[in-house]
Amino acid sequence: MSLRTFNDMFLDEDAARAWFEHVRWPHGPECYHCGLVGKAWWIGTKRVWCCSGCRKHFSVTAGTPMHRTHLPLLVWLQALYLIVASSKGVSAVKLGETLGVSYPTAWHLGHRVRAMMAEQNVILAGLVEIDEMYAGAPPRKRGKPSRDHDDSEPPPANPRGRGTKRALVLVAAERGGDVVAKVIPTHSKEAITAALEGVVDPKATVMTDGLPAYTQIGRTQPHLTVKHADREYARTDPETGHRVHVNRIESFNGFMRRAVIGVWHQISVKHLDRYTSEVTFRWNRNADDCLDRMAAIVRNGEGRLLSYAFLTAKGT
Ligand SMILES: [Zn+2]
Repeated sequence: MSLRTFNDMFLDEDAARAWFEHVRWPHGPECYHCGLVGKAWWIGTKRVWCCSGCRKHFSVTAGTPMHRTHLPLLVWLQALYLIVASSKGVSAVKLGETLGVSYPTAWHLGHRVRAMMAEQNVILAGLVEIDEMYAGAPPRKRGKPSRDHDDSEPPPANPRGRGTKRALVLVAAERGGDVVAKVIPTHSKEAITAALEGVVDPKATVMTDGLPAYTQIGRTQPHLTVKHADREYARTDPETGHRVHVNRIESFNGFMRRAVIGVWHQISVKHLDRYTSEVTFRWNRNADDCLDRMAAIVRNGEGRLLSYAFLTAKGT
């Protein structure tokens, strides 16, 4: 959808509100307090719906990360458009400049849209590749020498690959289908099993590298491995004839890395799950129409609240 088409479709705040209501309430206004559908009247002076059942007021943003927003819905809609129309994402600086809002507002807006992008109830089937990736830039090859470091020795090497202190993301990708990515605390058996719960169809054939934590998967479902430690990256399984590799995950990792380096520059571990949601949403819905993607974000936002206080709190 071109910017001109967007502007023609959404001329004012009423048009924006009508679109949000149409997407969220296909059967008419739904009371946030008692759940009554299609039985509410519009109070033009207060710009809220009044439920004819419980007589309470509500609006289309109630119960979503847009709850109690001070921004016009048209600005929200413009933000959704900018975010889904760009191929890699939009930084908070750019979002603020384009929408004419302050940096903190744009930053908070971006995170709330990202929270709404998190996909729910995706189940991967068929052939499913699983691997973990490290988010953010790789560490320098050598650490900074400490003040009392002996200059005759080189500074200590930073560990790379498994063993670094960077945040971990577990990625599961269906061949020819969707991707699910989750932030995990460690690559232990427990963390991986918990992250995969309800994500992979029990009949799916799972492909991983030889990390011991993955051997657990083989107990409950078909499991094929490639031995990355022996520099084996792809093989044909003689029994099933499947091509065993995790290349789809490699592509997804590259896609995520380009978004982090090119758009956000740096992402903190605290907000990593939301950035991961945005990258996954983009990857999975690449072929969808612009308006469909915007509608999917609004529908995904149901029942999710995200306050500014939570986003900016330290140490949570
Ligand atoms: Zn009600």
